[in-house]
Amino acid sequence: MTDYTKEIQKRRTFAIISHPDAGKTTLTEKFLLYGGAINLAGSVKGKATARHAVSDWMEIEKERGISVTSSVLQFNYDGYCINILDTPGHQDFSEDTYRTLMAADSAVMVIDASKGVEAQTRKLFKVCAMRHIPIFTFINKMDRDANDTFELLDDIEKELGIPTCPVNWPIGSGKKFRGVYDRDTKKVLTFSDTMKGTKEGHIEEIDIDDAKIDEVMDEDQKEQLMDEIELLDGASAEFDMEAVSCGKLSPVFFGSALTNFGVETFLQHFLTMTTSPLPRTADCGVIDPMTEEFSAFVFKIQANMNKAHRDRIAFMRICSGKFDAGMEVYHVQGDKKMRLSQPQQMMAQDRHIVEEAYAGDIIGVFDPGIFSIGDTVCTPGKKFAYEGIPTFAPEHFARVRLLDSMKRKQFVKGVNQIAQEGAIQIFQEYMGGMEEIIVGVVGVLQFDVLKYRLENEYNVDIRLENLPYEHIRWIANKEEVDVEKLTGTSDMKKVKDMKGNPLLLFVNSWSVGMTLDRNENLKLEEFSKN
Ligand code: GDP
Repeated sequence: MTDYTKEIQKRRTFAIISHPDAGKTTLTEKFLLYGGAINLAGSVKGKATARHAVSDWMEIEKERGISVTSSVLQFNYDGYCINILDTPGHQDFSEDTYRTLMAADSAVMVIDASKGVEAQTRKLFKVCAMRHIPIFTFINKMDRDANDTFELLDDIEKELGIPTCPVNWPIGSGKKFRGVYDRDTKKVLTFSDTMKGTKEGHIEEIDIDDAKIDEVMDEDQKEQLMDEIELLDGASAEFDMEAVSCGKLSPVFFGSALTNFGVETFLQHFLTMTTSPLPRTADCGVIDPMTEEFSAFVFKIQANMNKAHRDRIAFMRICSGKFDAGMEVYHVQGDKKMRLSQPQQMMAQDRHIVEEAYAGDIIGVFDPGIFSIGDTVCTPGKKFAYEGIPTFAPEHFARVRLLDSMKRKQFVKGVNQIAQEGAIQIFQEYMGGMEEIIVGVVGVLQFDVLKYRLENEYNVDIRLENLPYEHIRWIANKEEVDVEKLTGTSDMKKVKDMKGNPLLLFVNSWSVGMTLDRNENLKLEEFSKN
């Protein structure tokens, strides 16, 4: 193997998905701790002040104390080079959260053991499932009273429609949590309370037949464990690596990120089961990550990290080959040869300039306003475009009113630019023009971002009026349907997106079904690939 293929082979690029508070940040910290990337757990992004060091990019983030942007963390562990894509975990997540998943090769799903599958987990899971990437489940907070283990697995299977295969099994929970039983090695990993990670834990590995096991758990617990294992061996899906690889079976692990229990064993198993950079589909066929020629696609554009310069950063996922700083590349959509300016990477807290990067890595490059989401960059001489990134369904809508009509020009420019960066989606009345604009966002925080940016960057004041729509559908067969003649429900609104595609907005989810019933030929879809 040549050097560059070795580098690619050892890369693992994944995202962590969860509902807020399930423990994603804590788990990430513990991963970094094992990788030696940070010395002290808790320093990645403390909720209040420490976080600003990491992503002090937008004023609004500072004001709110939450992370609007998502960053990438790279560290090494056990011969692997790991890229964690951080998806914004706050309730007000945005379309960027979904787009980040397009750059991942697998996902770790963190679930709170006392809550099971929650709303945001469900949404993020859907996007992963659409891509058929492997999904690994970490059931967290076992040091607290947890739901019944079988019920937790049942919940995942029913809510998300993916069968599960527990790799280990918890012994008790809360005050009675004793550790996990590894189904393969038949050994128990004993839990010791690290007092929220402040004290070094002493974890033992004891064979289930070893007499020492009686010191760890009482008769009842052992009996329960044996019963559960027997039941499990009879009932659960058999481990099938092929099914895992295409996202049809999720390996499940139990632990407690806060007390640092079960995290390293999870990481070790995960790294052997998850995939090195996956091939990606382009318009000329599938591109092998191991080919020598560099290629990448833009999955996120971050505006205004530095307000003084109004610059943007385009985040690219490298899909094949090796990237060298200063190399000439070809921007396919712009039909231009260029050098990528100031390529950078995040290593734990620091942004630094990269000299070289490989398939699987994420780099951020200075963008003078030429890139769009989904664009392809490759070695000059090649000319292909990676599959585009879908437009995801916004969940909140508002009508935008311009307060000073003299500023119409700046206003139109501003909303268009912000929409082009992918922070918001703009819609117009189906038969109308730009005089009335409806804005759709995935997370409500984006409304604030829009208002703030229009005021600060374009000197335009607006008023937003919330609209009651919650469901949006693109018309999949627009050529076959006469949109004007569509008969829907009374809450339905016809609009068009910036590319002129017709869409329907609904207040109620049942109206979607009703409209489909009333219009036999109509085909609707939840995201747009155009
Ligand atoms: P995120 O919103 O998913 O990133 O969640 P955080 O990692 O910020 O965790 C949310 C809260 O749960 C914090 O107060 C953590 O200290 C706590 N937490 C995380 N993991 C555990 C765990 O394993 N056990 C307990 N008891 N608390 C946890």
